[in-house]
Amino acid sequence: MVNTANAIRAEIGVIGGSGLYSFLDHVTEIQVDTPYGAPSDSLFLGEVAGRRVAFLPRHGRGHHLPPHRINYRANLWALRSVGVRQVLGPCAVGGLRAEYGPGTLLVPDQLVDRTKARTQTYFDGLPLPDGSVPNVVHVSLADPYCPTGRAVALKAARGRDWEPVDGGTLVVVEGPRFSTRAESLWHAAQGWSVVGMTGHPEAALARELELCYTSLTLVTDLDAGAETGEGVSHEEVLQVFAANVDRLRGVLFDAIAGLPVAADGERECLCAGALGGMDPGIRLP
Ligand SMILES: [Zn+2]
Repeated sequence: MVNTANAIRAEIGVIGGSGLYSFLDHVTEIQVDTPYGAPSDSLFLGEVAGRRVAFLPRHGRGHHLPPHRINYRANLWALRSVGVRQVLGPCAVGGLRAEYGPGTLLVPDQLVDRTKARTQTYFDGLPLPDGSVPNVVHVSLADPYCPTGRAVALKAARGRDWEPVDGGTLVVVEGPRFSTRAESLWHAAQGWSVVGMTGHPEAALARELELCYTSLTLVTDLDAGAETGEGVSHEEVLQVFAANVDRLRGVLFDAIAGLPVAADGERECLCAGALGGMDPGIRLP
């Protein structure tokens, strides 16, 4: 295990969700510390199609971290600190419409935050250990996902004969419990598409660090309001994820290969200029 984050660099980060605890075969494991504490696990650095990739299991290997206990700030910071500028964030979700059954791959273009108790900004006015103090910064999250990353992800799925749902709204709940039937019916009535527990604040924090972030949601179950049975069980979620994890990995590999090569400052999407030249007060890693 190497302990110096800067020794090996990556350009693309993958944050693996439930059921995706390992991603690459030949990896270098590094531990990265951040001003916000430790990320969910080590970073696992490897290569896909000649691209340097850093994989981070969102819940830790062995799935010991529930969604509301994940240190999202440390996770995104750690990825950026090894050079990552593009992040792919696959996650398991519940479908809010009957047509979004298990096995549906939906690449959302919108996000609704229904979490309750998560630190969702780096710009909280509190000093970092190095004494620097973040300024008051408001980034735009009108379009929370990278348009380039979304297009690449959709193309990668189609290339694997997995017709994805192009767009939709991911509503993120606090968890760890699943929604009540009434909550689920309400989410669906708003026109939202899928429900998960980790999509926020991940995308918002990525934007604050000027990272490209693309969400790929895999429907593992119909949420309580969209079906008539007993509701969701965690076992059911993991079973469906396991049945689809190989093709999801394939889509992620192809997406990695398809992401444009762009050094910092050369990305053309809105993500790269999210701070608009504002002084964040802290030095981004
Ligand atoms: Zn972008």
